[in-house]
Amino acid sequence: MMYDYDVVIAGGGHNALACAAVLCKNGIRTLVAERNDWVGGGAVTRELTQPGFRHDLFGSNHVWIHANPHIRELLPELKDYGLEYVWGENEIMGHPMTEGPGVIVHRSVDKTCDSIAEYSRRDADRYREIYDGFVEIKDGFTRNMFSPPSPPSYLPAAMERSEEGLRMLRNYSLSARAFVMENFEDPHIQAFLISWALGPNIKPTQQGAGSTFYIMIPAIHVYGQAIPRGGSIQLPNALARYVEAHGGKVLTNSPVAGILVEDGTARGIRLADGTEITARMGVVSALEPKQTFLKLIDEDALDPGFVRAVRNFTFGDVASFRVHFALHEAPQFKGGPDISKAPFQRTIGSVADIDRHFAELSVGVPTKEPPVHAHCWSLVDPTRAPEGKQTFMIDTFVPSKLASGNWAEIKDSYAEELIKTLRKYTTNMEDDNIIQRFAHSPDDIEAHNPCFVGGVPSGGERTLAQMGYFRPLPGFSQYRGPLKNLYLAGPSCHPGGGISGMGVITAQEMLKDFGLSSDD
Ligand SMILES: Cc1cc2nc3c(=O)[nH]c(=O)nc-3n(C[C@H](O)[C@H](O)[C@H](O)COP(=O)(O)OP(=O)(O)OC[C@H]3O[C@@H](n4cnc5c(N)ncnc54)[C@H](O)[C@@H]3O)c2cc1C
Repeated sequence: MMYDYDVVIAGGGHNALACAAVLCKNGIRTLVAERNDWVGGGAVTRELTQPGFRHDLFGSNHVWIHANPHIRELLPELKDYGLEYVWGENEIMGHPMTEGPGVIVHRSVDKTCDSIAEYSRRDADRYREIYDGFVEIKDGFTRNMFSPPSPPSYLPAAMERSEEGLRMLRNYSLSARAFVMENFEDPHIQAFLISWALGPNIKPTQQGAGSTFYIMIPAIHVYGQAIPRGGSIQLPNALARYVEAHGGKVLTNSPVAGILVEDGTARGIRLADGTEITARMGVVSALEPKQTFLKLIDEDALDPGFVRAVRNFTFGDVASFRVHFALHEAPQFKGGPDISKAPFQRTIGSVADIDRHFAELSVGVPTKEPPVHAHCWSLVDPTRAPEGKQTFMIDTFVPSKLASGNWAEIKDSYAEELIKTLRKYTTNMEDDNIIQRFAHSPDDIEAHNPCFVGGVPSGGERTLAQMGYFRPLPGFSQYRGPLKNLYLAGPSCHPGGGISGMGVITAQEMLKDFGLSSDD
């Protein structure tokens, strides 16, 4: 049989493209099929408000990609294809509060501890202790994060031998809220750290998030925070150019309607217009598992127990709601001039505010005046706004499904709720500073990309039952699907959501199967 390509990939997000880039670099002819007219999935930039204001629609903060050792090797080559990262050097994240100066997370851990010490010296020392613990183990940690996950008994078996190890294991199993309440004493610092840990759309009481602190606190100081000059879309665009320059093909406006299966082997894809594209060595689904296994593959080709496991995969109910702005000037946050230099801010209320927010969210009610995340990337990358102006956005967590009404009806009035919060923490966000605004509800987010099921960005709920060796499904965490030649990539796989370039892990596993990897 003549095959069209060596490998075909369904979905054209940055992970699919990163996977394709590594395969093409190794001489594997790879085709990527994307349903939209553009590539990038969750890494897309548009002039949503007015010409010259470049807004990141979804993922905007590129942290984890710089910790991923495989993609770090590719990043210098991507410069030739238009990707350049701009780094936050000093103030990275601001946390304005209604009392005191707020907390600034600097690239420097010392300066960050000084900022925390304005509220509590003991909390600053504990923060430092967590940072120091990671620096010793960071190489092993990042290797594990960007490798196929180990069996569930692996970590406990290594840690259960000492009292210190057992203490750490217990801490890992705590929720973000419980971890913070045990480890930090000042109520402002407690609220700041819980808010930070909820970044991947998790709930404060979700068990297993305790381990997050040992990663997120040190990683921001070790790896820093960077954004692509010109917007998030520069990453997938550069990857797509790289793929095409290395013998691959990227198709847009090409929704995948089926995965071709013959004798228990994945043989290619069928596009919505009926075109079939065959692949000699492998088919990768870089889509979420429900679409892959319940829509694109005939159920008869799959084991019923497997199909049941797919049906039980959950995305959770913590969705995102975002408002984009074209501004005359950058927001000025209360708490002194330094805090406003940070391009990313979280407004910090009290721990009780966080509890109320998530209690209401759990029953389908979007909270009034919710805490917001505020991003003004044009402060570090002026190419994202016309000269002298600023591109800005705020977002918050909302229920994926409303208890009553629908997002289309309440979108505009709910955008006002976020703006009310913003005004409480800033001095210049009245109407005369706002040139135009544009809101995105969970429904809009899913409409752009069906992998953001219910407007949830994480690619699958980050519960203990769906992380590590269980992600996406028990028995299938090694980036190989239940059919011969079928591979999996994307945020439903380990290590989960985020702009991390994890598609390269899938590519490495494929190279091993093809006998082309040096460490097979
Ligand atoms: C509001 C929001 C904010 C976020 N902020 C951040 C952030 O600041 N930092 C961060 O690291 N992450 C962030 N994320 C998460 C991040 O965007 C995702 O984890 C990331 O985009 C996943 O990349 P991916 O390439 O694996 O998949 P995706 O980006 O989901 O790409 C999947 C692609 O598949 C395509 N597709 C779907 N179905 C089909 C089909 N049948 N046929 C062909 N193509 C199909 C889609 O159109 C899409 O292009 C955010 C997400 C959202 C929604």
